[in-house]
Amino acid sequence: LGDLERLIEDTARSLGADLVGITNVERLAGGPPSADPRYVLPGARSVVTFALALEEKALVDFVTKSSWVPHCEDRKRLVRSLYVLAEAVTELLESLGYRAVAVDINNSYRPEPGAADVTEMTEFHPDFSHRYAAVAAGLGRIGWSGNLMTPQFGSRVELGSVITDAVLQPGEALPDADHPCDGCRACVGVCPVGMIPGKDLETVRVGGVVETVAHKRPNTCCWIGCTGYEGRSRSGTWSNWSPYRLGHPLPSDRSGTDALCISLQKSDPQMTDAKNAFADYRGAVFDPDWFYYTVCGFCRSVCGADHDGRVDLGRRIRAAGTTVLGLDGVHRVDPGDAVAVPTPFGVMVMVSRAELEALGAAAPSRTRADLFPLDTAVLEYLGTEAGRRAAQRATASRAED
Ligand code: SF4
Ligand code: SF4
Repeated sequence: LGDLERLIEDTARSLGADLVGITNVERLAGGPPSADPRYVLPGARSVVTFALALEEKALVDFVTKSSWVPHCEDRKRLVRSLYVLAEAVTELLESLGYRAVAVDINNSYRPEPGAADVTEMTEFHPDFSHRYAAVAAGLGRIGWSGNLMTPQFGSRVELGSVITDAVLQPGEALPDADHPCDGCRACVGVCPVGMIPGKDLETVRVGGVVETVAHKRPNTCCWIGCTGYEGRSRSGTWSNWSPYRLGHPLPSDRSGTDALCISLQKSDPQMTDAKNAFADYRGAVFDPDWFYYTVCGFCRSVCGADHDGRVDLGRRIRAAGTTVLGLDGVHRVDPGDAVAVPTPFGVMVMVSRAELEALGAAAPSRTRADLFPLDTAVLEYLGTEAGRRAAQRATASRAED
C-alpha cells in the first residue's frame, strides 16, 4: 500500500471499521448501473469501502425472538458509526486537495420513471452500491441471497463507501476458490415472503468476477416483508418481527406485487410524514428519539461465517413462533392466543386476545414514545369506536389460522 492508502485505512480503522478496501472505476466498469461511482461524483477514480460487523448476540437474540430492541439499536449505532467514518475519510481526502463524496448509507435511491416519490418506486436502485464496491475491493463476495458475504463475518455487516477523484491503488476481488458462500441455502428458508428461490439463478458480473446468485422475486416483495406489511411465513408457523398480515398470499407476478406494495406504502403513515427516514436518513439515525424499527433482514442475519451455525440458526428461526403487537406498542412473541384485527391501513394486526379483552373499552397506552408510525396509528385506531368493534369481532372469532 502507498502512504495515502495506508492513511485512509488507518483513519477508517481508528473509527471502528472492521474491514477496509479500495477499488477503482476501471475495476467496477462493466458492472450493473449502480456500480458506477461517476453517477455520484463525475470524474470519480476510486472508491474506499468499509464494513462494520453487527453485534452477534443481539442479532441472534433478534432472529430467535429472545429480544427485539437491542439489535435495532445496534443497527442504528453502526449506521451512525458508518456516517462518522465516511465523513472522516471524505475530510481527509478533501484536506489533501481531492474531491470526495460520502455515499449515503441507506434509503437513497435513483429516480425511477413515473415514480413521484419513494412510495411509487419498485426497483430501489441505490445511488451507488456499497456491495459492488466491497466485492471489487476484495472485502467479500455476493452470496446466494444477494447480500455481501465476507469470510470473517458472513453477511452480518453494514457497509459504507467514499467516492473520490484521487487515484488510489485498488485491491483484488476474492478469487472463486475463496468464495465464502457454500450454497447452504439457509437464507432461502428464513425469508417469510419467499423472496429467495432455492434453485432459480442469475449471474452478475462485477469487479472482475462473476457471481451466481438467486434469481429473486421482485424487489417490492422484499419491501413488503422487510417493511413488515407481511411478517408471517408462508407456512404460517413463524414470522419475522412484524405483527402485520395481509390475509392473502402475495401476487405471483411482478405487476401485481408492485401494485400491492405501492398501495400499502400509500396507506402507511410513515410515508405521509414529510420528515421520514427516506427524506433524511442521516438525520433520523442521529436523532436520539428515533427508533431504528427493524423487523426482518433475516436472510442477512442467518448468514454467519460458519456453515453449521447457519443451518442451525435457520432451524431456530423457523421454530421461534410469530409476533404480535403488544398494546403498549412493543412487539412480542405470540403467547398462543393471537387474533387478527383488520385495520384501515391495508393490513391486519395480530394482537393477543387476552390483552384485547383486558383492555376492554380503554384506549391502548404506549410505553415508548418512539414507535413506528404504523404501530402508533394502529394503537390509536384500536382506541376508537371502529377499532374496538373490529377487535371485538376478532376476539369473537378464532385465532390466526
Ligand atoms: S445463507 Fe448459505 S446460501 Fe445463503 S448466502 Fe449465506 S452461505 Fe450462501
Ligand atoms: S430482508 Fe426479509 S423479506 Fe427481504 S429478502 Fe431478506 S428475509 Fe426476505
